[in-house]
Amino acid sequence: MKIAELDLPTDIKDFYEASGIRELYPPQAEAVKKGFLDGKSLLAAIPTASGKTLLAEMAMLKSIAAGGKALYIVPLKALASEKFERFRQFEGLGVRAGISTGDYDSKDEWLKDRDIIVATSEKTDSLLRNGAPWLSSLTVVVADEVHLIDSANRGPTLEVTLAKLKRLNPALQIIALSATIGNAKELADWMKAQLVVSEWRPTELKEGVFFGRAINFSNDKRVIKTPGPDDVQALVSDTLAEGGQCIVFANTRKSSESIAQKLAKSLSRKMTEEEKAAFLEVKQQVMRHAETDTCAKLAACVEHGVAFHHAGLKGEHRHIIENAFRKNTVKVIACTPTLAAGLNLPARRVIIRDYRRFDVNYGNVPIPVLEYKQMAGRAGRPGLDPYGEAVLIAKNYDELGELMENYVLSLPEQITSKLGTEPAMRAHVLSAIATDFCGDVIGLNEFMDTTFYAHQRGDLSAVIDNVLDFLEAERMIIRTADRLRATELGRLTSRLYIDPLSASIIVRALEASKKRQEPYNTEMALLQLIASTPDVKSLYLRRSDYGWIIKYTDEHISDFLTDVPDVGDETDFEAFLSSVKTAALVDMWVNEKNEEEMTAFYNIGPGDVRNLMETCVWLMHSTAEISHLLKAPLTREARELAVRIDYGVSKELMDLIELEGVGRVRARRLYEAGYKNREALKHVDLQVLAALMGEKVAAKILSQLGRKDVPVSTEPDEEVMGQSTLF
Ligand code: ADP
Repeated sequence: MKIAELDLPTDIKDFYEASGIRELYPPQAEAVKKGFLDGKSLLAAIPTASGKTLLAEMAMLKSIAAGGKALYIVPLKALASEKFERFRQFEGLGVRAGISTGDYDSKDEWLKDRDIIVATSEKTDSLLRNGAPWLSSLTVVVADEVHLIDSANRGPTLEVTLAKLKRLNPALQIIALSATIGNAKELADWMKAQLVVSEWRPTELKEGVFFGRAINFSNDKRVIKTPGPDDVQALVSDTLAEGGQCIVFANTRKSSESIAQKLAKSLSRKMTEEEKAAFLEVKQQVMRHAETDTCAKLAACVEHGVAFHHAGLKGEHRHIIENAFRKNTVKVIACTPTLAAGLNLPARRVIIRDYRRFDVNYGNVPIPVLEYKQMAGRAGRPGLDPYGEAVLIAKNYDELGELMENYVLSLPEQITSKLGTEPAMRAHVLSAIATDFCGDVIGLNEFMDTTFYAHQRGDLSAVIDNVLDFLEAERMIIRTADRLRATELGRLTSRLYIDPLSASIIVRALEASKKRQEPYNTEMALLQLIASTPDVKSLYLRRSDYGWIIKYTDEHISDFLTDVPDVGDETDFEAFLSSVKTAALVDMWVNEKNEEEMTAFYNIGPGDVRNLMETCVWLMHSTAEISHLLKAPLTREARELAVRIDYGVSKELMDLIELEGVGRVRARRLYEAGYKNREALKHVDLQVLAALMGEKVAAKILSQLGRKDVPVSTEPDEEVMGQSTLF
């Protein structure tokens, strides 16, 4: 089917033809036949890189051309920016894209002027809770990676959000994009969507298992002629020798790093001078943001054309690596499976080194087929590679047979809803009541009956009853014979987008703070408080931590506002210690310890520190809001701490960081030079300030203070990312 034949406005067809797309891929053509261009909902369960996004784009563009508005829901923030960059290319068609990643308690009113909005499912849910008025004018919603409904963490929010959007506008067109799954029909039935299931791929995918010296495909064999010190190195060398690139999936961040380090050593001899020069350029980009051990390690690998990629890396570094891989100036990436979750980064050969993953309850367990297929699907760059290869590694003959049967020849599992538990339901029940979505128990049950859980697994009323009991006991709702109403605390909790259990822990602690007579360290009290909520994922306790954490806990014992559990109560006591460990890390951050010291002491990546701080800013902001509502005495302290966690600064720098372009490092430098606040900077000579922070930044600072005698540069300040405002 040709693009020219489609029932689309001419300028949209011209846009695609100009980008080289003239003919639809077979599954795309099937989707057209099933009516997605006529406004019908669609579930496309087809492999990675087979053109799912194109379907979503066409549905959105067609609807927008007729005066509609689209929302594109992504599972990860990192994917939101990738999609946003893509949709900005529609500007020539008069289509304005927007990205909504800001604070959870805002309505993002400016988005009402955008035609396509990209957001995560959590952000969409929070926009619904905050009553963003433009949501009711949506005509198309795209749910990318919709099989994540199966995820215990993210799934419930995604399915409830889709159910809510559909309820706001029953005529809404839903375009759901999924990997191939076992029960696509069931999911499509729930969405009342047309279904396209296909195994078609633009490049052939060969899946096999490496054992001995050969990759065994289902009907073929490839002998590897480049022996290496280990299997991964042999497989990588083999692909590079043919001019391809590799992705190696490992189950932990540490192994992804050590694989990259080993490969860097063994591969460097084989590269040309030209390639080496290109590697050095990427290394310099990495070094520009290098403040920690992990960064130095990454730079050392990149110099040899190899990189590692995992959630512990800073966003800047992940982008550098992704771009360099796309340009073929990084030849191999060793990564954790997060990379498979949707980034468009194909490679000739994908090596799945680990097919087992550690699970807290069950130990080392084999990964689901669905996950394996997602990783395998990354193999083969359309138009560039003649084929793609996905390779598992067997250690013995028996394993070869098992891997062939359990993965290569297996079909993906069915996905199941994870909504049916109290922790998953608490927040959604509260928000349905707080936003007047459901005014009584019958209405609430009726709404929950429209979720995928109810469609697939049945009645949720027992869980709903338990959750209502909890919310009533915590004074977040009032239940009368014929009505459900949220209290002010309930509405605030819903707007703040925190778990009602977190809110109840915060309320208890704040009530306790009202009764405190003796002075205490409120900073530690607040940090430990937020670290003890379920929204903050506390740090794992290592055996070697016990000594110092118990001592640290003793020193702060009179500061804590949450109850200290009995030592005999092992699980609770451990959870408490781990909250103290987390609080101690945030304490280092707000007292300006450098990142390297923190990541080395805690043995975590710089990306982890940032993610944790981002959540902590949010919980501290929420604590301040709840404190204000309860008239507790810690509102000012919590507000101040939220700003300090945001910037990683002590109290004395709070005035200086108000300046744009000035973060923790620059603010400290100014302070030490005697400029303790903005007032002190007002009359300083440009050259004097330039000696401290470079002319560009100095000019930027002075112009913000109203100085007319300085030149203003409009260039973006490269250093800001690494040195100042971190979030
Ligand atoms: P998916 O969302 O399934 O992973 P994408 O829609 O991102 O796949 O498509 C992968 C690549 O294939 C993109 O670069 C896209 O431009 C290209 N593509 C999609 N459909 C076609 C087509 N019909 N003809 C040629 N290229 C296409």
